[in-house]
Amino acid sequence: MIIIKKSEDLRSYLKSASGEIGFVPTMGALHDGHMTLINQARKQSSTVVCSIFVNPTQFNDPKDFAKYPVTIEKDIELLEQAGTDILFLPGISDIYPDGTSGQEIYDLGFLETVFEGEFRPGHFQGVCQVMFRLLSIVSPHKLFMGQKDYQQCMVVSRLLELTGMSSNLVTCPTVREKDGLAMSSRNKRLSEKEREQAVGISKALYYGKAILKEGNLDWIVQEAKKILLSHAFRIDYLEFAHGKTLEPRRNWNGKEPLVLLVAAFQGDVRLIDNIVVHS
Ligand code: AMP
Repeated sequence: MIIIKKSEDLRSYLKSASGEIGFVPTMGALHDGHMTLINQARKQSSTVVCSIFVNPTQFNDPKDFAKYPVTIEKDIELLEQAGTDILFLPGISDIYPDGTSGQEIYDLGFLETVFEGEFRPGHFQGVCQVMFRLLSIVSPHKLFMGQKDYQQCMVVSRLLELTGMSSNLVTCPTVREKDGLAMSSRNKRLSEKEREQAVGISKALYYGKAILKEGNLDWIVQEAKKILLSHAFRIDYLEFAHGKTLEPRRNWNGKEPLVLLVAAFQGDVRLIDNIVVHS
């Protein structure tokens, strides 16, 4: 694996790459969830590029940015083992040469007003700003992202549409710990007690799926929220939505695609997760 820090160097290196380029953008503190993206990219492309860049413009809470875990040496080891060809490790001034304020704004429509859009104002604009830059540098044939960030996948899909970029988005299933907790870099910030309680987030989703019936969904939401509360979560949202449009749903006709999404705090760590309950 080679490590490239400057976007110009990466651009010129990739000009001579043969075959398809697969790209896995990350913010580091890598775990098995990231590794499945690398493995998929390895299977489906000739050159695998992974980026590690903790993007300041997508953090609506500066404390969250400051506390974001950094484990670069271990990350390099994991990426080497997984057969990554190139690790792109840019600095902030390489991605944002003119500074991080006053960036372009994307028309994300409805997606920006619900769920993560509602609770993290500006977050998806930041995601689009960094993704547009990274995609312009790497120009991948395929882009690999995790279903763990369901709404983010929809936002990036919209960004590809808006900008006419030709990368294909490949969404990979969520990888979970043995007890069901979705792997996340933020899990590293949980205390032992919080980590034990954190299992409540996946329990709530699985329970919601298990008791799903067509008709009104409010009672299911209430039951699932009880599980979160009994595991000491502070809830931002737990809601059903249409699986393709993300429009919130309080009733289900038994046919349309449906996803159950959740965001909740365990201590001061905000966790998100989702489960497709009908596809
Ligand atoms: P992050 O480093 O958190 O920005 O995540 C980088 C990529 O890894 C994103 O596409 C995430 O959706 C994906 N990812 C994070 N956690 C998981 C997981 N547990 N399973 C699958 N993909 C994941």
